[in-house]
Amino acid sequence: MNHVITPPALPTVPVAGGGLFPVHRIYCVGRNYAEHAQEMGFTGREAPFFFLKPADAVLPVADGEVGEMAYPPLTANLHHEIELVVAIGVGGRDIAASDALSHIWGYAIGLDMTRRDLQNDMKKQGRPWSIGKAFDESAPIGPLHPVGRTGELTQGAISLSVNGVLRQQGDLRELIWNVAESIETLSRAWTLQPGDLIFTGTPAGVAAVVPGDLMEGHIAGLGSLQVRVK
Ligand code: MN
Repeated sequence: MNHVITPPALPTVPVAGGGLFPVHRIYCVGRNYAEHAQEMGFTGREAPFFFLKPADAVLPVADGEVGEMAYPPLTANLHHEIELVVAIGVGGRDIAASDALSHIWGYAIGLDMTRRDLQNDMKKQGRPWSIGKAFDESAPIGPLHPVGRTGELTQGAISLSVNGVLRQQGDLRELIWNVAESIETLSRAWTLQPGDLIFTGTPAGVAAVVPGDLMEGHIAGLGSLQVRVK
């Protein structure tokens, strides 16, 4: 059967050293560092929960490049959230945390960009967060690093600076639900597929950026991600 419109391009993320990783879905873990949960008004001890962004929300940034993100419409409070991104290479459902590593293809630095004013409005009204979280270019992401080269990432510094001033700082060991536990819980609710990305949550210090700002994220072992807001 022929497609009746031109099929959309498959979103991809570059791989460090060459190659492209095709993106299937983007899952995000909410409030997964205690201090960030507290700054959002929660105790930091709730069960993990998830939301999604469309696959084509990725804004891929190649090694050594500075990504350019257009300031999105409808917001006056665009927030940065620096996050470890896990790429799934082997799908599955009901994956045990002890088996999670064998499903991981690699890791990247990502930004879960958030229209915080819209998200907060939706929260107050008990409505879905999509307009606050799942907009175009809401998922800038640096090159993927294969787990065979990085080893399993369970600790290490994660930080974000804006215009050279440190805003967010934490350590991967502070994740409330670690990567393996997040994969276990996610795969009970959805069948994970090769090409899925998981944004694993952000440490404290989320704040607004404005056009002209340069965000620079670091995660130990993954280098840096630079994105300028246009
Ligand atoms: Mn987030």
